[in-house]
Amino acid sequence: MQNTKRNIPFFNYPQLWLDDKDMLLDQINETASGGGFIMQKDLSDFEKELSQYSNSDYAIGVGNATDGMEIFLEAIGLEEGDEIIISSHTMLATASAIVTAGGIPIPVDIGDDNLINPDAVLASVNSKTVGVMPTQLNGRTCKMDLLQDIADKNGLFIVEDAAQGLGSKYKGQYAGTFGLASCISFFPAKVLGCLGDAGAILTSNEDIYNTCFQIRDHGRNHEGDVVRWGRNSRLDNIQASILMKKFPQYNKAIERRRQIATIYDENLSSIEQLKLPEKPSEDSDHFDVFQNYELEAMDRDKLKIHLQENGIGTLIQWGGYAVHHYKNLGFNQELKNTDEFFKNCLMLPMNLFIDDEDVLYICSVIQDFYS
Ligand SMILES: *Cc1c(COP(=O)(O)O)cnc(C)c1O
Repeated sequence: MQNTKRNIPFFNYPQLWLDDKDMLLDQINETASGGGFIMQKDLSDFEKELSQYSNSDYAIGVGNATDGMEIFLEAIGLEEGDEIIISSHTMLATASAIVTAGGIPIPVDIGDDNLINPDAVLASVNSKTVGVMPTQLNGRTCKMDLLQDIADKNGLFIVEDAAQGLGSKYKGQYAGTFGLASCISFFPAKVLGCLGDAGAILTSNEDIYNTCFQIRDHGRNHEGDVVRWGRNSRLDNIQASILMKKFPQYNKAIERRRQIATIYDENLSSIEQLKLPEKPSEDSDHFDVFQNYELEAMDRDKLKIHLQENGIGTLIQWGGYAVHHYKNLGFNQELKNTDEFFKNCLMLPMNLFIDDEDVLYICSVIQDFYS
């Protein structure tokens, strides 16, 4: 085990640039020198790659994933007062997109897998419910067959917050392809991150595709004619060119994340004060891409401080707030599992900038804390 103190930030943002600086400079130079700033070939190339990779008929680059959700909800025809059920264990953006699109987000409790609990979904369906928007959180896909069944029986649509889910699968099917539409985020710290804000909408529905395509660029259709009201939420072309450059390495990046998760699991699973995420496994129902490594820890706050004192950065997801905790935004639900989870949850470093020795060091510091 490693004993010498290491400095391991939770996510080393400068490294995103420094690790690939020459490649990135070349790419930016090439794209910018050709004047390729807005809606150029890099974007359409990336959209094509992304739709192929994720097994979706269409991908539409947008400014960020939050915009993507707002846009596809508008495209679906969400109406004032329509309720959409979401997991409370998600970024507030899932809820805010629904509000911006005129709907009402209804946060429900999580199940054993810390993702949306299908039973809780069913219990929250009422006459105003029009859809369910599960979040494929931490790079793990929800039990979509159970959710689909509930949706079918109650005449609801499914859309997905797959901001963290690119490449993740459930029963062999990719996150982002279960519902009418989904969003992916390319925020720098996401599994496939760029150097700023960017996102995409995935859909295999041609009408939704066309409407989203129009909304993201001032209502213009493929011929450039304005056919409806729209807005500006285009995926920046330089960012698209950078994403194109990084995409060929994406499967390797997922493999590395799964390796890190395996090392965490091997070294932490015997600590009974911890509850770990399920370890990577090819043959179970889930193929996880480990956007995050989020565990539950006894004495979480003390552990966090202990890790910090030993040079290790950790993060409590969403600043420690589930959606229903935002009482000032009008939420008044009591969600037992989610509340319990947020008392103990902690995310360990999980990214391409840490090596095996770093992971072993983190594990030894945690072992030391509980022994
Ligand atoms: C990051 C994230 C978002 C927001 O993505 P942006 O591209 O920053 O808008 C939404 N939902 C989840 C679950 C996320 O992790």
